[in-house]
Amino acid sequence: MKIVVDTSSLFYGFQIDGSNEYITTDSVIQEIRGKKMKKSIEIRMELLIIFEPSKDTVKEVREIAEESGDLQQLSGTDTGLIALARDHDATLLTNDLAMQNVCKRMGIKYQSFQGKSIDTEIEWGYRCIGCKRKFDRLFKECPYCGNELKKYPKKRKTIVEST
Ligand SMILES: [Zn+2]
Repeated sequence: MKIVVDTSSLFYGFQIDGSNEYITTDSVIQEIRGKKMKKSIEIRMELLIIFEPSKDTVKEVREIAEESGDLQQLSGTDTGLIALARDHDATLLTNDLAMQNVCKRMGIKYQSFQGKSIDTEIEWGYRCIGCKRKFDRLFKECPYCGNELKKYPKKRKTIVEST
């Protein structure tokens, strides 16, 4: 089976199955490269084959998305992925409801993925064990008192959105 992988699927843990062929667009790769990459994502990226969707199909996708009222919620990357799924008669892996809706209208198969182990993203801060001052980045030692800095979770947010 051919599977088109979107940015969030790639980022948040789709399951690799050796019997499938995973494809995506260059613009997904660009989006991923713009983010901080985890090792596991790099490994997944290596398994992807990159194609460009045909311009005609992208146009068709945009027309259908406009009719259904989904177009405003779709980025250029999104419409490109839907078009790629159509071009390759592939299944689109996405949790994006607007994308799924357009797929439905076009008769393109799609699948949601279950964001498995990672469902929160942690933003780390650093706190001095001496004076307790907080920092956004790690220094070798506290610039105020010279004590050691320790990492702490500053913010947690849910990363598998189901909008
Ligand atoms: Zn300090």
